[in-house]
Amino acid sequence: MADPTEELREKIMLSCRMLAMEGMVDRITGHVSARIADSEDIWIRCRSPQEDGVRYTTVDAIQRVDFDGKGPHKSEQYQAPNELPIHGEIYKMRPTVGCVIHAHPPEALICGITELKFRPIFGAFNIPAMRMALEGIPVFPRSYLVTRPELAAPMIEIMGEKSLCLMKGHGITVTGKTVEEATVRALNFNILAKATLQAAQTGRSAPDISPEDIEKLPDLGSTFNDSWIWRYYARKLKEEDLRLSDRADT
Ligand SMILES: [Zn+2]
Repeated sequence: MADPTEELREKIMLSCRMLAMEGMVDRITGHVSARIADSEDIWIRCRSPQEDGVRYTTVDAIQRVDFDGKGPHKSEQYQAPNELPIHGEIYKMRPTVGCVIHAHPPEALICGITELKFRPIFGAFNIPAMRMALEGIPVFPRSYLVTRPELAAPMIEIMGEKSLCLMKGHGITVTGKTVEEATVRALNFNILAKATLQAAQTGRSAPDISPEDIEKLPDLGSTFNDSWIWRYYARKLKEEDLRLSDRADT
């Protein structure tokens, strides 16, 4: 039987590659982590001297550390991300969080620095993304690098119980119970950020959808929202990776 801890490690690798494939992380910045069951440890995407970008994340780059980025398991050649406290401090404060994603997506960046508001401007097009806008997205107004626990604390306070925070001039932090949930949530938010930015760029107004329409939109459930959409991206990634390796061979 497959080792669930190793399976979790592989899912983080896939999540990193998916986020990069979809343009949510740029070059070598951005990281995904997950809580390891029955431990005070996490898996987190680390960097080595051979680093070549989040798009090409390997399983080896996912290393086991404690909430402070330390512990006996991490290989010497790997370095935990500078912004590990974003992950570690969330795991300390929010026991139900199983996965944390930190990324620097360009469209969300522009929405943040131009102070565009995320509003429910579409409905059935992407119901979870509409609900994120409807429920409100916390904005952390500082744009520093989160290198110490005390720098993560005010962001986590602003985030509250929400599963996503826009960090102005910096990026986003997304949480979920599982890697699949957090990843699909981040990807849905990216669709909202793109739509918000592109609607603003048309120069036309994009009114909120009506409360009557919002009320009629169903919750499609976690199979639809997480499992199927995750599998779509996993397949797309596999196909794209095959194409890339074919090209590298010729
Ligand atoms: Zn960052």
